[in-house]
Amino acid sequence: MCIFCKIIEGEIPSNKVAENEEFFAFHDINPQAPIHVLVIPKQHVACFQDTPGELMAKMTPFIQEVAQKLGLDADGYRLITNNGEDGGQEVKHLHFHLLGGTQLKWDRQVADPKAENI
Ligand code: AMP
Repeated sequence: MCIFCKIIEGEIPSNKVAENEEFFAFHDINPQAPIHVLVIPKQHVACFQDTPGELMAKMTPFIQEVAQKLGLDADGYRLITNNGEDGGQEVKHLHFHLLGGTQLKWDRQVADPKAENI
């Protein structure tokens, strides 16, 4: 069982923000912003590329509700999913990083974008 499945099952403790039948939201253990929450489906899906559109259709309003609950809806937030090796995905269970609580910087995290040919 993956680490996020264990969090959903309560085998690993988490700081829960919200939950419904299909989704779970909890604070990231290593926050990169004043508010850094992870939103995950209870169904194990490895990454965004493997995610059925129907699941995203249900996940979208849940993420919006979480943002509202955290008071991020008015001033804004950043929503990120890292997909696969090049995307820097460490945990192979779909998760959206919901970041906010301050004016966020935007770093491309590529030392020389031209050299990377992107
Ligand atoms: P990613 O690099 O996109 O796969 O992000 C994985 C995220 O999971 C990182 O931001 C970690 O800090 C976070 N994380 C890993 N283990 C835990 C945990 N037990 N509780 C909360 N967040 C975690």
